[in-house]
Amino acid sequence: MKRIALFGSTGSIGTQALEVVRTHPDLFSVEILTAQSNADLLIAQALEFDPNVVVIGDETRYAEVKAALSSTNVKVFAGEAAIEEAAAMDCYDMMLAAIVGFAGLRPTLKAIENGKTIALANKETLVIAGEIVVKKSLENKAAILPVDSEHSAIFQCVVGESRNKVTRIILTASGGPFRGKKPNFLVNVKRDHALQHPNWNMGAKITIDSATLMNKGLEMIEAKWLFNLRSDQIEVIVHPQSIIHSMVEFEDGSIKAQMGLPDMRLPIQYALAYPQRIGNAFPRTDFRKIEKLEFEEPDTRTFRNLYLAREAMEKGGNLPCILNAANEIAVWAFLKNRIGFLDMMAVVEKALEQVKFIEHPTLDDYFESDAEARDFAASLIKL
Ligand code: NAD
Ligand code: MG
Repeated sequence: MKRIALFGSTGSIGTQALEVVRTHPDLFSVEILTAQSNADLLIAQALEFDPNVVVIGDETRYAEVKAALSSTNVKVFAGEAAIEEAAAMDCYDMMLAAIVGFAGLRPTLKAIENGKTIALANKETLVIAGEIVVKKSLENKAAILPVDSEHSAIFQCVVGESRNKVTRIILTASGGPFRGKKPNFLVNVKRDHALQHPNWNMGAKITIDSATLMNKGLEMIEAKWLFNLRSDQIEVIVHPQSIIHSMVEFEDGSIKAQMGLPDMRLPIQYALAYPQRIGNAFPRTDFRKIEKLEFEEPDTRTFRNLYLAREAMEKGGNLPCILNAANEIAVWAFLKNRIGFLDMMAVVEKALEQVKFIEHPTLDDYFESDAEARDFAASLIKL
């Protein structure tokens, strides 16, 4: 029995993880559930899965959650600090890190220091502070297993290949809802259109990141740290069908690809059950129904975020942290209809130019750079 702590249980990844757990009660138990503000769903999840602990980030919802669970043995806590404290508990084996954005960093670091295995959905953690996160995970023997579908694909391709040299990885990108569109179209795009992803149903932030290609930018940086690669070994190709989830090339030129229907439950389940593969009733791939598999170069002139992310990855230091922070503010402002689609990329570019560069940041430097980049981005947007 693997004891799971689900951080961000009410989100897209969190709820799909609970679907996996629900169908395998013999393999998994849920020990911790955390959510930011969706008290109703958190309560329903706690009543169903009977965890040890639940934490609601928004303290104004504490009384409600506490009252609803008063007839159970579930311990209820509230607030940002309580989320981090829950990660330091001993009652679980594996954290599924499914909080969105910078807020996921501290609890995940705490779980790593606590020696827990991390099933990592929160890519921002590695983007912000990859070097420190990886170092701590090695020191504490806390394995990091990818949940992101591309990284799960790469991971599945390299299992059993530990003696063999990877020469290149090829990250596939769907291209998002605006593939092929140009600035004259994008300038007028509004949030509701951008929230309609062709292949995946995800939380709002990552859906916008997919539309601007920032998601793929973040994923390049995530891959660099997860698989210990140089920037020039990481390639991105647009593959609109999202059947090949990513590929790995080895020294002999042979390429392995991992394929399947776009369904996040699969990579989630792979990480939760690793090193085992377990059965499920998810829809199967029928190649007769897939007319073609297409590949094209990403348009980094229009979708500048991908270019900016590569620059940040290559120059390193605190630049990926600045990129992420400015992007979080920009996406938030776009979702509130405060700025346009192309403005998001302009905000990120200005932040990379203007916020103080630190070549060898400490963890505190990352927290400071994050705050500085957020303030800078907010001042540009005049929030
Ligand atoms: P989501 O918005 O659907 O869910 C986010 C979860 O985090 C919710 O449970 C929410 O309560 C919690 N949360 C939000 N803000 C918080 C805060 N400030 N403090 C504590 N908790 C907070 O997001 P999602 O789509 O499930 O994505 C989660 C993470 O997984 C992201 O980092 C995303 O990039 C990554 N990811 C998601 C998908 C996907 O298909 N959704 C795929 C790959 C990677
Ligand atoms: Mg992905």
